[in-house]
Amino acid sequence: MENCIFCKIAAGEFSSHKVYEDEHCFAFLDINPKNAYHTLVIPKKHYTGIFDIPEDEAVFLMKAVKKVVSLYSEKLGLTDLQIINNNGKNAQQEVPHLHFHILPRYKDDGQNFAWPQTRKDIGEKLDELLEKLK
Ligand code: 5GP
Ligand code: ZN
Repeated sequence: MENCIFCKIAAGEFSSHKVYEDEHCFAFLDINPKNAYHTLVIPKKHYTGIFDIPEDEAVFLMKAVKKVVSLYSEKLGLTDLQIINNNGKNAQQEVPHLHFHILPRYKDDGQNFAWPQTRKDIGEKLDELLEKLK
C-alpha cells in the first residue's frame, strides 16, 4: 500500500534492522525500543489489523512470530517476553499495518507494561456477555 511505512520496510524500500524474513512475513527491530530486541513482526501484504487479515495469512504471521522467538531463545537465551498486538485507535494502534510486538523482558529491566484496571461491574455480567454471542 502506498504511503505505508511498514509496506516500504517489508519491500526493502525503507531501511530497518531486519531480524527475520520469509516469503510472507518480515521482522525488524522497533525504532523506539522499550527493551533490547523489541521487535515488530509484520505480514508483507498490507492488512490494517487482525480484523482484515485472512486466517491462512494469520497462520503465516504467527509462525513468523514463533521463528523470531526461537531465534532469541537460541541466540540470546531469552526466557521472558510479551507479545502485544494493537488493533484500532481505541486499542492504541499507531501504525495501521498489522504488527505483533515481541517485547523481551529481563530481570529488573525497570519496565512495567501495566495491565488495565479490573472492571468488577463487567465481571458481574459475564452471562449477559455470552448471550450476545448466540
Ligand atoms: P503500535 O502502537 O501501532 O502498536 O506500534 C507501532 C510501533 O512501530 C511503535 O512501537 C513504533 O516505535 C514503531 N515504528 C513506527 N515507525 C517505525 C519505523 O519507521 N521503523 C521502525 N523500526 N519502527 C517504527
Ligand atoms: Zn502497509
